[in-house]
Amino acid sequence: MSQFERYGTLIVISGPSGVGKSTLVGRARAVLPDLQFSISCTTRSPRPGEVHGREYYFLTPEEFENKVQTGGFLEYAGIFNRRYGTLKNEVLSRLEKGEQVLLDIDVQGAKQIRTAAENSPELARSVHFVLIAPPTLETLEERLRGRGSETEEQLQLRLGAAKDELANYKLYDYIIVNDDLERAAGELVSVLSSFRCLTSTLKKELFK
Ligand code: ADP
Ligand code: 5GP
Repeated sequence: MSQFERYGTLIVISGPSGVGKSTLVGRARAVLPDLQFSISCTTRSPRPGEVHGREYYFLTPEEFENKVQTGGFLEYAGIFNRRYGTLKNEVLSRLEKGEQVLLDIDVQGAKQIRTAAENSPELARSVHFVLIAPPTLETLEERLRGRGSETEEQLQLRLGAAKDELANYKLYDYIIVNDDLERAAGELVSVLSSFRCLTSTLKKELFK
C-alpha cells in the first residue's frame, strides 16, 4: 500500500433549486472524471430527459417508506411535498475505497450529515460542505423560470424555500456564487481538487 493512500471524501453540495448545482457539477465532472455521484431516491416524477438510475431512483411513496423502515438511508427529507433520500450503500463503501463522492442535497439533509459526522470519526475526517448561492434572488427566479421544468405551484414553493436555505450558510465550509458560470465552475473545481490533498484522509501515519 502506498505511503499516501487515502480514505475518500464526501462532498455535500446544497443550494436553492435553480441556482445551477446540476450545471456546475456537470462542469466539474467533465474536468474531474473520477468524481463519483451519489444517486438519490425521490418520490417526485422524472422531468423530461431524466432517467431512473441516472439522475435519481424514482420510487413510489411506499417503496421510499420501506427504505426508511429498513434503515437504508444515510439521510432523508421532505422537500416541496416530495421525499428525497441518500442511500447508505451509495456512499459508505465508496469512501472506504478512497473515492470522492458528491451529494447534491438540501439543507435539511446537510444538517443530518453534520450530526452523523459528530458521532462518526470516519465521516468527520471525510466530509466537506459547499453551498452554491445565486448572485440575487431575482436571478434565481429568472433561472428557475428559464428552466421551464416546474408548475407555478412548485416554482413558488422552490422560491419560498430559497431564502431559508441561504440563511443557513454558516453550516457550510465554502460558498460559491454562481454568477458567471465559467468562474463559478472554476472555483468548484479548485475546491474539489483541494480535497485530494487533505492530511485528514491519509490512511497511515507517515514517515514513522
Ligand atoms: P439546480 O440543479 O440547482 O436546480 P440547474 O443546474 O438546473 O439548477 O440550473 C437552473 C437553470 O439555470 C438552468 O436552465 C441552467 O442552464 C441555468 N444556469 C445555471 N448556471 C447559470 C449561470 N451561471 N448563468 C446563467 N444561467 C445559469
Ligand atoms: P430537484 O427536485 O430539483 O431535483 O431537487 C430538489 C431539491 O432536493 C434540491 O435542493 C436537491 O439538492 C434536493 N435533494 C436531492 N436529492 C436529495 C437527497 O437525497 N436528500 C436531500 N435531503 N435532498 C435532496
